Amino acid sequence: MTEIPDIQIPDTMRPVDGRFGSGPSKVRSEIVTALAAEADGYLGTSHRQDGVKYVVAAMRNGLNELFNAPDGYQILMGNGGATLFWDAATFGLIETASQHLVCGEFSNKFAKAVKTAPHLGDPDVIESDPGTAPSMVANPNVDAYCYPHNETSTGVALPVVRPEGGEGLVLVDATSAAGGLRFDANNCDVYYFAPQKCFSSDGGLWLALASPAAMERIDKIAATDRWTPEILNLKTAMDNSLKDQTYNTPALATIFMTLKYTEWANENGGMDFVAGRADKSAEILYGWADASEYATPFVQDEALRSHVVATIDIDDRVDALTVSKVLRKNGILDTESYRKLGRNQMRISMMPSVEPSDIEALTKCIDHVVDAMS
Ligand SMILES: *Cc1c(COP(=O)(O)O)cnc(C)c1O
Repeated sequence: MTEIPDIQIPDTMRPVDGRFGSGPSKVRSEIVTALAAEADGYLGTSHRQDGVKYVVAAMRNGLNELFNAPDGYQILMGNGGATLFWDAATFGLIETASQHLVCGEFSNKFAKAVKTAPHLGDPDVIESDPGTAPSMVANPNVDAYCYPHNETSTGVALPVVRPEGGEGLVLVDATSAAGGLRFDANNCDVYYFAPQKCFSSDGGLWLALASPAAMERIDKIAATDRWTPEILNLKTAMDNSLKDQTYNTPALATIFMTLKYTEWANENGGMDFVAGRADKSAEILYGWADASEYATPFVQDEALRSHVVATIDIDDRVDALTVSKVLRKNGILDTESYRKLGRNQMRISMMPSVEPSDIEALTKCIDHVVDAMS
C-alpha cells in the first residue's frame, strides 16, 4: 500500500456537502430533519394501520405524478431492493425466456440470475464493452426485454424504448436513474428501482412502476403451477401494494424519505426540475473533464453519457485511487471508480440531491489535489 499524500484542501475550496457516492447516495439534510420532526408519531407504528398506509399511499401517488404515469400504471413495492427484484422477475414476470442488454456489472447480474433459473430457457444476451451500450434485437422467442436505464458501474445511460418489431414486456432497471433521468413510461412495462440513489433515501426496498400488461403477466404466471418462494412472489407483492402495504415489514424511514424526495421534486416542477439539476451538474463536470489535460470522460458517445453518474478517466501519470483517497481524507467521499471495472478512473454522482455548485467545487478540489501530487 502506498502512503496517502498529506494534501490539505482549503476549506473555502471544498464543497458544502462532501457526498458524491453513486449508491448509497447523498440524502438531503432537509429530509432527515423532516423525518426527525415526524418520527414520534410514525416510526415504530404499525405498517398495517392508517398512519403508515397514508404515507405509503402518498408516496405511490407522488411517484405516479413524478413519472407522469399513463392510465392504469401502478406503483408496486416490496422488500429486498433491486437485487431481489431480479429474482422476483425471474419467477413472476418472465414466462419462458428473456433478452438482456449487458453493458456492466448490474445489467450482467440480472442476466446471470435468469441464466441459472431452471424454469426458464437460456436468456438471449446482447453484450457490449463497458462505456458503450448494446441495442435490442427483436426475438420472437423472448417474452421480456431487460436493460438498465443507467448502468451505474460504467456511467452509461440507455434510452427507454421498446424493441423495434419485438413483442414482450420491457423491464427497465432504473435503480440509479429513477427520479433523476427523464423517460416516457409508455415505452416500458416495469420501471423498477431501489430508493437509495436519486431518491435520497435508504436501501432495502424495491419499487416498480408497472403497466397493465405487466400486471396481467404477473396474474397469468401466478395462475400456473410454477413454484415461487413467497418473498419473491410478485402476485403477493402486487396484492399488498395495491392496498398500500407490503407482504412483510418494510423500513418505515425508507418509505418516508422516498416520499419527501418525491414531494420536493413534484413541488418544484417535477421531472424537469430534478433532471434539470442533473443536467446542470453534467454540463459542469463533463465540461471540466473535456477541458482538462489529465481527465477525460470515459463514455465516448456524448448521447450515452449519464447525467446522474459520471465516469472520468484519469491520465496514467496520476493515480485516480490516490486522488480519491486524498479527497476522502478531506471529507469528500466515494469518488472511487466501480471496483470491478479496473480502470484509472473516478466515478461521481450528479444525482439531483447533489448541488451543481458542489460539483463545480469538486472539480476545483480534484485540480488542487492533482496539482499538489505532480
Ligand atoms: C445499485 C443498483 C442495483 C442494486 O440495488 P440494491 O438495492 O443494492 O439491490 C441494481 N441495479 C442498478 C442499476 C443499480 O445502480
